[in-house]
Amino acid sequence: MAEPVLIVGGGPAGMALALALRQQGVKARIVDARPRGAARDDARILALSHGSRLILENLGVWGAIPHTPIETIHISHAGGLGRTLIRATEENVPALGYVLAAGDLAAALDQSVAATDIVYTDNTPAPESPEAALTVHAEGRIDAAADLKTRDYGQHAVICSARPAAPHGGMAWERFTPAGPVAFLPWRDEYAVVLTCPATDSERIAAADDETFRALLQQRFGPRVKVASVGPRHVYPLGLRVRQNPVGERAVWIGNAAQTLHPVAGQGFNLALRDIADLADTLTDAGDPGDPRLLARYASRRRLDRAATVGFTDGLVRLFSNDIAPLRHLRGAGLLVLDLFPPARSFLARRMMFGARGW
Ligand SMILES: Cc1cc2nc3c(=O)[nH]c(=O)nc-3n(C[C@H](O)[C@H](O)[C@H](O)COP(=O)(O)OP(=O)(O)OC[C@H]3O[C@@H](n4cnc5c(N)ncnc54)[C@H](O)[C@@H]3O)c2cc1C
Repeated sequence: MAEPVLIVGGGPAGMALALALRQQGVKARIVDARPRGAARDDARILALSHGSRLILENLGVWGAIPHTPIETIHISHAGGLGRTLIRATEENVPALGYVLAAGDLAAALDQSVAATDIVYTDNTPAPESPEAALTVHAEGRIDAAADLKTRDYGQHAVICSARPAAPHGGMAWERFTPAGPVAFLPWRDEYAVVLTCPATDSERIAAADDETFRALLQQRFGPRVKVASVGPRHVYPLGLRVRQNPVGERAVWIGNAAQTLHPVAGQGFNLALRDIADLADTLTDAGDPGDPRLLARYASRRRLDRAATVGFTDGLVRLFSNDIAPLRHLRGAGLLVLDLFPPARSFLARRMMFGARGW
């Protein structure tokens, strides 16, 4: 074998894995189809969990990423009673999560990779038949797979920044509406907004002038936050695509190449980081990182967390993105239960912070 590990895709998942493997004594090389640094232009704003912070701290990149802490999460749904508040103080963590720019995350990872002996070859698509002991796919998408599970929610995300009329105080808002969820994440002194809308409407909504879009956002979100102004919009198609088995012959799929999720619960990159931490741990000091027994062990370690996170995200979108009356009452009851029973709330908070391992 020419080399131990080849990572195809130098986005955040690929770069984080290269750093994690290096810590565990495994040599990896990255190839990416785009020019190096392209990921710094990613316009997405991500909510990362406390567990993800710990992983990024361990990789030595957290300190270089500007972030805004989430102190409280307010969850509600349009057209019904019931709401719940999850507080960092109740969960005994400094923050429930952190909001950061995907571009800043990529820049910090790239800087750390550049400070090591990890080879990053850009402008180079994956070789046809890699000669590495293990090829890790981190291409950020799943084109095809024999065991592919997909769901088309018929929704797109319109993302933008929004300036609130009053300071946000570290509060994140998740509001479920029949047209899809709306998230307001505290980011610097603004909100990063993810507005989900029917796929057929997204381009028209995003192209509306600022005042028309602001009014629509306000109407979809309701009166709890007054939106003073909005920034430029970007559209992302949403869906669920999951490669059920994340390993193959001398191959592993991680990050969005293993599972692409709806951003409703902000789980995509959080799950990717847990994949990465477990893969690096499984391959610690491995003589042959492509050994099928090691790959099977990795797949088995990831089974519960992957299935639970995919199921949780998918269930949330389907339960909350409709206007069927019995479901509306069920949603209200669910939010009320969460609000009245701290253990149930804590369960949800820990699941969101640490994945299935947090339980
Ligand atoms: C609107 C939206 C909001 C989101 N919000 C959150 C959130 O709040 N929290 C969260 O945790 N996650 C969130 N996510 C998910 C998160 O953005 C992704 O999980 C993350 O960006 C995936 O990183 P990645 O490295 O797997 O893929 P990418 O960032 O797509 O990187 C893939 C890399 O592979 C390269 N590549 C592709 N094909 C090839 C090839 N054939 N050969 C070589 N290189 C190749 C590409 O050039 C690219 O650099 C959100 C997603 C969306 C759409």
